[in-house]
Order: sequence, then C-alpha cells, then structure tokens
Amino acid sequence: MKTQELIHQTENYSAANYHPLPIVISKAEGIWVWDVEGNKYLDCLSAYSALNQGHRHPAIMKTLLEQAGRVTLTSRAFHNDQMGPLLSKLCEVCEMEMALPMNTGAEAVETAIKTARKWGYQVKKVPDGQAEIIVCRDNFHGRTTTIVGFSTEAQYRDGFGPFTPGFKIVDFGDATQLEKVITPNTVAFIVEPMQGEAGILMPPPGYLTKVRELCTKNRVLFIADEIQTGLGRTGKMFAYQHDANAKPDMLIIGKALGGGVYPVSAVVSSREVLGVFKPGDHGSTFGGNPLGSAVARTALDVLVDEKLAENSREQGGYLLEQLQAISSEHVKEVRGKGLFIGIEIRKTSGKARPFCEKLMKLGVLAKETHDQVIRLAPPLIIKRAEIDWMIANIRKVLT
Ligand SMILES: *Cc1c(COP(=O)(O)O)cnc(C)c1O
Repeated sequence: MKTQELIHQTENYSAANYHPLPIVISKAEGIWVWDVEGNKYLDCLSAYSALNQGHRHPAIMKTLLEQAGRVTLTSRAFHNDQMGPLLSKLCEVCEMEMALPMNTGAEAVETAIKTARKWGYQVKKVPDGQAEIIVCRDNFHGRTTTIVGFSTEAQYRDGFGPFTPGFKIVDFGDATQLEKVITPNTVAFIVEPMQGEAGILMPPPGYLTKVRELCTKNRVLFIADEIQTGLGRTGKMFAYQHDANAKPDMLIIGKALGGGVYPVSAVVSSREVLGVFKPGDHGSTFGGNPLGSAVARTALDVLVDEKLAENSREQGGYLLEQLQAISSEHVKEVRGKGLFIGIEIRKTSGKARPFCEKLMKLGVLAKETHDQVIRLAPPLIIKRAEIDWMIANIRKVLT
C-alpha cells in the first residue's frame, strides 16, 4: 500500500484526534526516516523529544532484544532484576534519592500530583481536602482529565468536564504573582522550565532561582516537569540547570527516558517526599517492568556516555545563531536553548503549517506548535554537516 491508501485507511479507522503531515513513515535510523515511497527525511521533531538518542540507537536496540529474550513483564507483585539498577542510575543522573516508575508522561504528572498532595497532608499537615497546587498559564502537562482540568487551552478542556478542583493558575515567568498566590495550604508549584507546547517559551533569567527561594520559604514543593526539556534537550541534562541554585524538589521525566522504543516515565525526588507512599497507595501494572527498565537504563547510559547534552548545547547554539542570521520577512523571532528551537512566523505571513509542509517537500520534518511556531528539535546525536544541510533547506523555505 502506498501513501494515499494508507492515509485513507488510517483516517477511516482512527479517531481524528491528530492532524499529521501527509507522510507515512516505514523505516528510521539515527536522525533519518524514510516514507513508504522511499523518500528520506531529517526528523526535526524527534517524537516531541522522545528520540533524543536518535531512532533505533544500536546500544538501545541491543538491550531491547537481549532483555526481550529473558523476561519482559513481572508486575510489581514480584521484584525484577532490572528496576533497581534503573532507579539507581536515574537517581544518580537526577541527583535525587528515590524514584517512582510509570509509563507515560501524563501518568508521571498524575503521580507527582498525588505525591504532592499526600506529602501536604502527611508532612506539611495541610487540613484534609484543602491542598492547593499552583500551575502556569499555557502549561502543557498531558491529557488526562485532571491535567486538562488545569490547562488554560480552551480546546484541551472543551467537553471534558467536570474537572478536579484544587489548582490555581499564575503567569509563567512571574515569580511575584506566584508569591501572592501561595497560601498555607499550597503543597506544590508545577512548572515546565521552558514551555514546549506553548511555543518554546523561555522564562526570564533567574526565574527558577526565585521560584526555588519562594518554595523553600513557604514549604511548597517545587516540581519541574522536564518530560520534554529534560535529558539533554536544552543543552544541559535538565533545563532547570540554566538558572543557578534552582534544583527542584521533584523532577518529572518521560519521553527520551524510553530511548525512543518503549514508554518509560518517572517521578524522581527525595526520601522525605517519595517516602510518603506505603504499599497499595499507588501503582501501575507496567510501571517498572524489566523490559522498559533495561531500555531506560541504556537510554540514560547513551545520554551520559555520548555527551548528548553537550552536543545539544554546541549544535543548538550554532543552529540558533545561523537561523537568527537569516533575514526573512516571515520571521518574527527565532528563540531557544540547545536543540530546542522555535521559529515564530509573523501572523501577516499566515500560519506555520504551510511552512512545515514546504520543509517536508525538501526533506525536513518539523511540526508546528500553536499555529505560529515551527519547532526544531532533532535527535541530539545530530552533527554539524547535517545541521548545515537543515539550515540550507530552512533558508529556502523562509526566503
Ligand atoms: C509530552 C509531555 C507530557 C505528556 O507526556 P505523555 O507521554 O504524552 O503522556 C507532559 N508534560 C510535558 C512537558 C510534555 O512535553
């Protein structure tokens, strides 16, 4: 079956909750993907940063196959020999003490919310049922009913209520507002260090340092959702590290933790915080399974051993500089950190989507986010020559 037939079949049987570019991928390796017609493309989306290590990284594939030949799933009713080594490595990379493994990002965010509330009642002694969590305007934390309940994006909420109470909204990047909204019942502040889905938005420098101070002063858990920005994407292992003294109380990790092959997510924190759980409080059938754990451990090894955060910083800095030097009437701003870059298209030039469609015809796969922004987030293994090829094609489309 070729492109049109496969798209037609997919559209016929699939709920229409996505609007993909009209390409059908059947093969991938490293930073490249091939469609069913045999055309080759540079993947500049990396499955929303779940492919930081590239497609089918040899070390990750080797682990996947070896572990698949031993044991894949035990459930948490029994121990397995892969979960401990993963969590130990994860705590080392995160400089934390304990972790709770889940599968998808949204599940890890839900886990963070439950953890913060439990900590609030047990440790901070917030009166029963009164815990408050503060989140940011234009946040993206996933798609479960609790999470979309505190989204400020009308489409994410429309028709899905009623929603979970207990959330308050402040502007992203405004620590003064955060300070005003904190009450004695506030248990946590959840924030993306850089807002991805909202259009690659960076807070003012020093914002997270202030957040850290406010949270410490008021005994509020500072929770960073690093599902997209973490694991090297922005040129540091975690995006909060761009600010001094801004270490959160809890990190939420997902996407690239699964090495591009298997969904693995986790909440990583201190003994005081994750110590609130006792058997039966929370769980997941697939969470911490041996196949996912083995894959995730190798996914972390690859990030560290191949210095992918450093490569992201180096190649991303060059890419940003080169893109900013393109003079185009269509571009309002080019911004980002590491290989997490957004090109904002002027409203007078229409939406970002037609630009993404033109890029696709030239062999560069990028996806628009929030109408006006082309997001560029290639796998972190990308090299200078490949970046140059990408820039040449972007220049053609923008000028
Ligand atoms: C992708 C993402 C999520 C949700 O992850 P899923 O695996 O799609 O559930 C949550 N937070 C952020 C910042 C994300 O980018």
